[in-house]
Amino acid sequence: MRSYLPEPYKIKMVEPIQLISEEKRKKAIERAGYNPFSLRSEEVYIDLLTDSGTGAMSDRQWAGLMLGDESYAGSRNFYHLEETVQELTGYQYVLPAHQGRGAEQVLFPLLIENEGQYVLGNMHFDTTKAHIEMNKAKPVNLVIEEAYDTSIDHPYKGNFDTSRLEEFILNNGKETIAFIVNTITCNSAGGQPVSMANIKEVYRIGKENGIPVFFDAARFAENAYFIKQREEGYENKEIVEIIKEMFTYGDGLTMSAKKDGLVNIGGILSIKEDEELFEKCRSMIVPMEGFPTYGGLAGRDLEALAIGLKEVVQYDYLHHRISQVRLLGDLLKEGGVPVQEPIGGHAVFVDAAKFLPHIPKQQFPAHALAIALYIEGGVRGVEIGSLLFGRDVETQEDGQSELELLRLTIPRRTYTDNHIRYIADSLIQLYQKRNEINGVSFTYEPKILRHFTARFTLAKQMVEEK
Ligand SMILES: *Cc1c(COP(=O)(O)O)cnc(C)c1O
Repeated sequence: MRSYLPEPYKIKMVEPIQLISEEKRKKAIERAGYNPFSLRSEEVYIDLLTDSGTGAMSDRQWAGLMLGDESYAGSRNFYHLEETVQELTGYQYVLPAHQGRGAEQVLFPLLIENEGQYVLGNMHFDTTKAHIEMNKAKPVNLVIEEAYDTSIDHPYKGNFDTSRLEEFILNNGKETIAFIVNTITCNSAGGQPVSMANIKEVYRIGKENGIPVFFDAARFAENAYFIKQREEGYENKEIVEIIKEMFTYGDGLTMSAKKDGLVNIGGILSIKEDEELFEKCRSMIVPMEGFPTYGGLAGRDLEALAIGLKEVVQYDYLHHRISQVRLLGDLLKEGGVPVQEPIGGHAVFVDAAKFLPHIPKQQFPAHALAIALYIEGGVRGVEIGSLLFGRDVETQEDGQSELELLRLTIPRRTYTDNHIRYIADSLIQLYQKRNEINGVSFTYEPKILRHFTARFTLAKQMVEEK
């Protein structure tokens, strides 16, 4: 029998959700052009589109909103946030930003000296990649091979392949590399952790070659929890101790506070000790985000974030958070549904190529599965596969992604384990009638970022059935 873990909070305020009828769900998804992004949120029962900014704040954070000091300069909430980040990271300099990409747009142009330089990462997040490319540099992913195989169980699938990292620097010359980004946990590899040993080694390599190392720290607390669970020598350490050690192996960070910051909006740019770089960032943040003591946020947002950063490092919170995501993965596995292993920190990835082997990649099996799951249970997931990947730039061929995944992303402190069981049941029921699910084809395909606004038609068989 499964032992269960009650949520480490009680509920003081509720937001009603409603499952509309199957008939209405079919109409809604048809009107949305068979694209879940175009649904209204009220048509969705359980929303697993993203864990970004979708979590619930605590009573302390809501109380913090009332303590907002909305002074243009020198707000006391800024100093509270600054102290909190300094304490947690050991870094000297702190600037708020409106969200993670706000911090990226300020920092990256200052680190990229020449066009064509490389930025090396384990696996760059989309906006990180976009900001690198907008500054005419080249993003390179150097995550370990195992990350690309959904069936291999490896404890640190977010790790850098450090031999390839050293080789790359040696072959191309250290002057061709602008900086290194260590993404913890590695979102694009499925919320997979990076080990302390690997974080340390990457920093050593950076130092040895005079290349700065920055963290993309959106899920820093979840990464620390995995280190405590999995890495020898860390089982008895406090989460906060582990976090502090992690951050010693870097020169600074950008952070989307919409994840482990436990807030709905916000970001951070922090620098360990490079005063000159900090001064440049401080000058640039003014025209791009706002005055350095608010950076695009209201005083109340800064306060909620300072409090969120103290809550996210609590063991009981993290233990339930990661266990809840694993619960979904375990229930699905028991029902025979193929999922990526091991289960990551913020989402379960269903292997749609294995779930729907009869649908060709050009008909986007994971997107077809997202549509079917919405019709089945009102649950909204998102395709991470060939639709997101886009066409081959030269041949225009479609079906280019190695993996066809349906991502079920779990918002923080938002749904109970009963919701999790409902999600699993819906998908397991669908698995039993998977042969009835058909692929999709475009009726409208935008040129860039097509997955957000594309429209589709269902392959014939499914339409006739209705
Ligand atoms: C979300 C995210 C970002 C971007 O942050 P925003 O707050 O969405 O701008 C960057 N990196 C990673 C790893 C993320 O998960």
